[in-house]
Amino acid sequence: MAGVEVQRRSFLAGAVTGALSLLLPGDPSFAATASKVIWNLPTSKVQRFAWTVDDGVSSRAVTEYLKFAEQENLKFTFFVTSCYETWHQNKAKIQAGLQSGRIQLGNHSHTHKNWAHLTDKLIRQDLMGCHNRMLDLFGYDMRPYFRPPYGLFNDQVLSVAAAEGYSKPIMWNGSLADSGSTNEAALRRNANTWIGPGRIVIDHANGTFTADHFSDVLNVVRARKLSTVTLREVFG
Ligand SMILES: [Zn+2]
Repeated sequence: MAGVEVQRRSFLAGAVTGALSLLLPGDPSFAATASKVIWNLPTSKVQRFAWTVDDGVSSRAVTEYLKFAEQENLKFTFFVTSCYETWHQNKAKIQAGLQSGRIQLGNHSHTHKNWAHLTDKLIRQDLMGCHNRMLDLFGYDMRPYFRPPYGLFNDQVLSVAAAEGYSKPIMWNGSLADSGSTNEAALRRNANTWIGPGRIVIDHANGTFTADHFSDVLNVVRARKLSTVTLREVFG
């Protein structure tokens, strides 16, 4: 039951900071479905967390994350929404980041539709649309890592994705900055609340707000003596 409690707490944290859900924690099928997705990193003696960055509306934001990763020896997992030009525009830098292991790409759909409302065929189309584009662009296979748009999932979403080799759905413990408006105090508060050992933190490359205040986040990372990891590094 402890595991379920942790998932419920993490889920609620995610829900508060941006995720929506079709299943509520009181729903009897919630725990069973929630146990099929990844909320945290496994416990380890290494003090590390995963900084994940979703969507990619802002090409400049992605450029800034790539630069920041190199300058500060950090690692990021981008959950790519492939309909944006961002990935083409940053092609050479992303390719270099992939080769160095500093970044990982995960599948976040081609068009960011809510898969929980789609047929199997349309879920597959949106998932594999992203898959094929990143494969063409970088020769890079993102499987088995994906994050359904909006963090919305149900058994149907998970099983359609798994049938295509996407068997590791990645959720998160807490959010640094959502796509909507935020302010520096909120970013600092979020960083203080969510950055910690074993955490998976979500951020968005839809504007440059986080990038413009990277030092606020980095101060927390350094003060807590944490390293950053990609998901592939941890889960294989
Ligand atoms: Zn998203």
